[in-house]
Amino acid sequence: MKTIFEKNKNLHSKSFLDNEIEFNKRKTPLNLPDTTELEVMRHYKELSDRNFCIEKGFYPLGSCTMKYNPRANEVAARLEGFLNLHPLQSDCDCQGALELIYDLEEALKIITGMDAITLQPCAGAHGEFCAMNIVKKYFENDKKRKKVIIPDNAHGTNPMSAKMNGFDCIEIKSDKNGEVDFEELKLLVNNYGEEIAAIMMTNPNTLGLFDKNILKISELMHKNGSLLYYDGANLNAIMGHTNPRLMGFDIVHLNLHKTFSTPHGGGGPGAGPVGVIKELEKYLPVPTIKFDGQKYYRNYDNPYTIGKISTFYGNFSVFVRAYTYILMMGNKLKNVSSDAVLAANYIKEKLKKYFKLPYERSCMHEFVLSGDFQKEKGVSTLMMAKRLMDSNYHPPTVYFPLIVHEAMMIEPCESETKEVLDNFIQTMINIAKEVENNPEKFSEYPISTPVLKADETLAARHLNTKYEFNN
Ligand SMILES: *Cc1c(COP(=O)(O)O)cnc(C)c1O
Repeated sequence: MKTIFEKNKNLHSKSFLDNEIEFNKRKTPLNLPDTTELEVMRHYKELSDRNFCIEKGFYPLGSCTMKYNPRANEVAARLEGFLNLHPLQSDCDCQGALELIYDLEEALKIITGMDAITLQPCAGAHGEFCAMNIVKKYFENDKKRKKVIIPDNAHGTNPMSAKMNGFDCIEIKSDKNGEVDFEELKLLVNNYGEEIAAIMMTNPNTLGLFDKNILKISELMHKNGSLLYYDGANLNAIMGHTNPRLMGFDIVHLNLHKTFSTPHGGGGPGAGPVGVIKELEKYLPVPTIKFDGQKYYRNYDNPYTIGKISTFYGNFSVFVRAYTYILMMGNKLKNVSSDAVLAANYIKEKLKKYFKLPYERSCMHEFVLSGDFQKEKGVSTLMMAKRLMDSNYHPPTVYFPLIVHEAMMIEPCESETKEVLDNFIQTMINIAKEVENNPEKFSEYPISTPVLKADETLAARHLNTKYEFNN
């Protein structure tokens, strides 16, 4: 089909627009159901009722930080001035929005210890891509630095982000404590030396464990001339207690939609800001938001930049929510992390008698159990996850990280009461007992959800999301 531009360059002539409308008009009527507005409302209400959400029940989906999203965030995001902004408005026309972006960046600098932040990336994975693009640019004149070291429990987006920027990934094993195997790392650094551009780490890692060797690791990598990249998806564990800068990281991404309480799931919208140390600041995407003492402005003037990473400046409404949350919490952000860690350890201690705990040590904001004992009785982790749905719980993250068999990754967050945690613990204990006494029943679950057991193979192989109306 010809584009508008090919057909007529004179975009503003009336006759052109008339022709355009005529051309695009549907020639045959759309086959829609003929029904009443009330019936339509009932249809959509019924669909929305089928969704599970944090307001409906406990959502301990590990690594996703499904915390409560305070309603005050929503009120702020819906303020007229924010809601009706257009990204092409001039700087003088949107001083308030630019000030909010600037202030949010300042807050994130304090929280991460980094020297500069960009809010442009629209998801964690997008932030990773942006960060690894900066790493690539930093080593532009050092062509042999083509390797990136990534632990075996990393989120799958880490190797993908490195690969998409042309790096080769080297996997490093975890040791028996669930930390990066430091002796192995020394060997890798010895073997590959100046070929290593960076190490990508998550700390606490996806086992919910804090790598106590982090200072030794950063010293080793820096001595080798390599950069340290921090996957900040687990920031909810450490806020106000430590930060990636103190651990020796050079570049980080955050997930505002996780740590800073904006609704997520179902694919967005999110925000994956990237923070960097001074030496990397000049590579940040344009525009950067500056303040000249009188007004805020978007600065495009930077010959070193990696360029643009989003069409405009990211998901602004997510910034408003995250900023509101940070202002509301203030110094109590530190308590957010303490409470999240306390809740995870509480559940872990209560459940370790009933499920295999592969790493017997205190955890951070989440922990990973193995369903190995139950699997021996014929009940897999997936079956237990389905059973949890019948008790109105969102199941934990399952089968991740890949290094734990039958993994169940539980992240309660700080926003739950002890009563909720106790009820969940009791349900898990009941499940463990049910596996002992009645393992056959597990093939039937779930029995109470709107969609019962989904045929996951069929869904993956023949995905069909199309509306089909059969009269
Ligand atoms: C969620 C997550 C990511 C990716 O973030 P998205 O916002 O989902 O793209 C990366 N790493 C870890 C450890 C995560 O938990």
